[in-house]
Amino acid sequence: MAKRLLLHTCCAPCSIAIIDELKKQYDLTVFFYNPNIYPETEYLKRKVEVVRVCAKWDVPMVDADYEMVEWDRAVSGLEHEPEMGERCSACFAMRLAKTAEYAAHNGFDIFSTSLTSGRNKKADVINPIGERLAEKYGIKYLAEDWKSAGRQEKSRKMVEEKGVYRQNYCGCRFSLSPSAREVE
Ligand code: SF4
Repeated sequence: MAKRLLLHTCCAPCSIAIIDELKKQYDLTVFFYNPNIYPETEYLKRKVEVVRVCAKWDVPMVDADYEMVEWDRAVSGLEHEPEMGERCSACFAMRLAKTAEYAAHNGFDIFSTSLTSGRNKKADVINPIGERLAEKYGIKYLAEDWKSAGRQEKSRKMVEEKGVYRQNYCGCRFSLSPSAREVE
């Protein structure tokens, strides 16, 4: 029987090719937990796209809570950090901790994340966080760099072919351009 894998999914364009790959090897469930995304309209837009991809691939999706207050608390004091600095590490850790906890409490064998597929997201920052949480919760972590082995190209093609919505900023209000923030 295939092992049960819980994939933390940040958005549809980052995860479409990963879902396609993992569903052939595992009993896959997608976990949408991204309280970092601002504003809420954007959060809903990204979630709807993940729901659409999961429905198309017939993969179950767990819709976790939009815990904005908790996210603000997790990055408190790190607001002025540059992208891929300490604020991002805290943001990854929060999202992965929720995923690992859910996986451990719901009979999954393994968890992973689509976060390493992001252009600016470093696998050597994200995967050690996953490994530490795997040890804490007594389950396995699939440490991958989803940018490797031609997956970025595959992902780009799939996003174009399926007409998947692709956002132009990472997610939190600090990653929005100053002009976009003013409009908000
Ligand atoms: S830039 Fe992206 S990874 Fe960094 S804190 Fe904001 S949403 Fe999280």
